This record gives sequence, C-alpha cells and structure tokens, in this order.
Amino acid sequence: MSGFDFTQWPPHITERDRETLQFRAASYALAHGLLYLPVGAPAAVPTSAIHAPISLFPTPFPRERFQQAQRLQPLYNTLYSRIAMDDQFLDRVMGAEQGVGQVDEFTGHLWRGWRDIRRKGLVQPLHLGLFRSDYLLHQGTDLSLKQVEFNTISSSFGTLSQKVSEMHRSLEVSTQFFNTSPHLRTGNFPHNHTTSGLVEGLAAAHSAYNVDRSKILFVVQAGERNIFDQLWLEYELLEKHSIYVVRRTFDELAEQAKISTNGSTLTIESPGEPAVEISTIYYRAGYTPDDYPTEAHYETRFTLERSRAIKCPTIPLQLAGGKKVQQVLTEPGILEHFLCDEAKYGAQGAFPAQALAELRESWMGMWALDLDGDTGVEQARKRALNLVIKPQREGGGNNIYKEAIPDFLDSLPPRERSAWIAMELISPPAGLKNYLIRAGSGATVEAEVVSELGIFGWSLFGNGKIVDEKEVGWLVRTKGKESNEGGVATGFSVLDSLVLV
Ligand code: ADP
Ligand code: MG
Ligand code: MG
Repeated sequence: MSGFDFTQWPPHITERDRETLQFRAASYALAHGLLYLPVGAPAAVPTSAIHAPISLFPTPFPRERFQQAQRLQPLYNTLYSRIAMDDQFLDRVMGAEQGVGQVDEFTGHLWRGWRDIRRKGLVQPLHLGLFRSDYLLHQGTDLSLKQVEFNTISSSFGTLSQKVSEMHRSLEVSTQFFNTSPHLRTGNFPHNHTTSGLVEGLAAAHSAYNVDRSKILFVVQAGERNIFDQLWLEYELLEKHSIYVVRRTFDELAEQAKISTNGSTLTIESPGEPAVEISTIYYRAGYTPDDYPTEAHYETRFTLERSRAIKCPTIPLQLAGGKKVQQVLTEPGILEHFLCDEAKYGAQGAFPAQALAELRESWMGMWALDLDGDTGVEQARKRALNLVIKPQREGGGNNIYKEAIPDFLDSLPPRERSAWIAMELISPPAGLKNYLIRAGSGATVEAEVVSELGIFGWSLFGNGKIVDEKEVGWLVRTKGKESNEGGVATGFSVLDSLVLV
C-alpha cells in the first residue's frame, strides 16, 4: 500500500500557473463537449452551453484500491443480475405485500405494476443493466475501499467522466502541470473508455432484439440540463454501431408509445412520421417519484414494461438497486444464496468463498431501522454521529446525517421505519484539497474535498442466465468536505479524474 500523504494535495502552484491551467481546463471542456445546458436554456433548440463543474487537478487514489474496485465489478454485475431475476427475494424485500413497498408508496407502486405484468406473462426475458458501483476510501487502521451504493437505473456521467479524464491528460501533455508533482504523469492516469463501454452494452441488447430498423428509446426528463452526457451515447451508437436513438419524455410517450396486440411490439408513433419499432428502452428518467406526477405516468411506465423491448432497467432491476437490498445483502446467508448456489447457477456460476469475502470487505455496517422492534432505532440513536440513514430514493439529497438523525427518528412514524436503513459513515482521508471550478460562473474555490469513485459495468441477462457482462470504466466526483451529499447535478460537487499513487 502506498503511503501517499493526502494532506499534500494539490501540489503547490503559483497563482499565474494556476490561472493558465484553469484557462486550459475550461477551454478544453468547452471545446470537447464536457458540457451542461445553462439554467433557463430554451426548451426546444439549445443555443449555448456551459462547461460542467470540474476539478483543476486529478485526485490521488491508491493504485491497488482502484484495481480492487475494477476487480469487484464483474461480481457486482452478476450479483445484481441474479437479484433482478429472483422474484421471490424481491417480493419479500421490496414488495407491497411483505416488503418495503408496504410503506414506501413509490416502491410499492412500481412493484404492484410489475406484479400485475408478471401475472399476465412476460414477453421479453432479457434485462439490460448499465450499472455504477460507488465507493469512498475509508481511513480505518488502513486505507480501504468501501461501497457507498450500487446504482441500477439512470447511472449518469459516464461519457462526461471520460472527457474529464481526457482533459486532465491534455493538461499534463500541454503543461506537465508545471512540474508541480512527480505523480502528475500520464502513466499514472488510468485510461477511461466509458462511452464505448456503455454503448457496447446498449448495442448488445439491440443485437439480441435483432430487428432491422428498430431503434433505441432514451426516456428522458423534460428540461434535463445534463443532456450532453446522454447525447455522447447517442453519437457513439450511431457512429460506431449504426443504431439510431429516439429521445422522449414520459409525457410524450403517453401519446406516442403503442404496443401491438400480437407480440407486444413497442412502437413510437409521432405525428407525421412513420412508426418506429423500439429494441431497447434506456431510462434516464423514472428513478424518482417526481417523474410520476400522476397515475398516468406510472401507466406509461407499465406500458413500456409490458412491451417486448429490452428494458434498461426492468422494474425488478430498478428495485434490486434499492438501498434496502444493499442492507439485506449484509444479512447472513444472502450472498451465499445468490453466488454459491451450484444447483441453480451451475458449477461455473458458483463463486469461491474468497470472492464473497472480497465483496463483504467492501461494505460498511448496515441494518434495518425496523430491526427487532425498537432495537434498530435505538442503535441508530446511540450511534447517530457515525451514521447516515437512507430511504429508497435515488438522485441525491434524500439522506439524513449524524446530528440530524435523533430528531428525524422522533418524527418518523414507527410504521415507516421499514422504508429506511442505517449505514455506518465512511471516513475518507482528511486534509485532501483541490481547486473546484463551478459551472456557469467558472468561479474557483480551493476546498478540502472528498472524492467518490464510481465503476461502470453492464450486464445483459435473463432466464436465470447472464448472456454477457463487463466492467467498462470509471468516474470521480469530488465534493467540498462540508457538504454531506455529492450530487454533481444538484451543484454540490464537480467531475474529476484519477492519478494513481
Ligand atoms: P443516492 O442514490 O441519492 O446517490 P447515496 O447512497 O449515493 O444516495 O448517498 C448520496 C451521497 O451521500 C453519496 O454520494 C455520499 O457523498 C454520501 N454518503 C452516502 N452514504 C455514505 C456513507 N456511508 N458514508 C459517507 N458518505 C455517504
Ligand atoms: Mg449516489
Ligand atoms: Mg443512487
């Protein structure tokens, strides 16, 4: 393990050299499509863009910990694929009759829709997952890698993260970072091919569907500002695979999505255009209750779910990404159920004890708030300062931290406890700093930071088997230490890349 001193980052740089770097970073980002739409951009045709929030220096990360995260990804791809194929498990943990869905209306709503579709019979056995497993470094007796969460829907910033790593590489090539640190050499900057990797997953689903002239549907949010992150996937699909994409919101799909009565083929029928058959549905919306303001929006989701198109993700795969599932995985025997069952998955599909140990190594302690009557809540109260509690939500800004926990627990009706989990806080190395460049204003602050590593992977699976899965790239988001949450889209953090130490 490298004895890297995180308090010595970023390296010392003169004001003038820093300004030069910042000029080059911002210009590179603008020139290479590392972009957001500005606030208040016109809805129809964009006329201008701003560069994404970025860090000036890449962030040091121990090489072994990075390789460990990459090594874990195929295991996680397999694990979550199998969870999504285990109806009984999902019914028990996330369902509206026995699980979280009883008290969490959003989860329950999705689960009930899926249950009804299942009863009538599924016409498409395949699921596609584009995943992102998120980690922080944890400073215990040694420096370890700990998982924050595993995302199974709308995992974003794949293509922009590649562009940030290319930006830092370009700064090194053009300026050598003014020789401020011996670590800042391109040999220490890992390659990042997330765009082609994620697109390979989408293309694999499209090929499996195997209908000439079918297209991939991107389901998007109206007013999305992180649109370029999605468009780079479209361009790659078209240029490298000759696959066309149609983008639609749930509102548009309510009008335009049609399902054939024989075979449940999904077509998009836009006014004045020929109908387009859809091979694969890629959701960059639908992960939050805000995307379903009315029952009709759920109905649109269920129409898509019922279709023969391959969903990325299906409802069960979305449910598998729940925080509750992450917690239940830490209970005795659950990992063995998914990874060691030779009768179910064959000798090839059963993993050795060492692989399970490696997965468990990457977890913090978690428990259910409804554990043993009041025990779960009492434990959370007692240990509040070292905890975060989480509901079944995605997209940032939903968790309760440390000193806010006791009051929150007082206000939480006991019935709703089962929708929340408690998780020990990860303690990233202290004293690490960086220059954070804001989107829009370009204002730069030097701040103490925490960097979260995400590893991307995909899996195409169904009928109990995994057709193919891959680890495909990575992402770093860096946030000011004083903010608990790290959502780039919500403005708390910046896109960053790695320098291995
Ligand atoms: P979401 O699905 O909303 O992104 P996360 O579980 O990723 O939810 O939590 C959001 C953020 O909260 C993370 O990006 C991280 O910054 C912080 N966070 C979550 N869990 C922990 C933890 N156990 N220790 C420290 N920080 C955490
Ligand atoms: Mg997260
Ligand atoms: Mg998430």
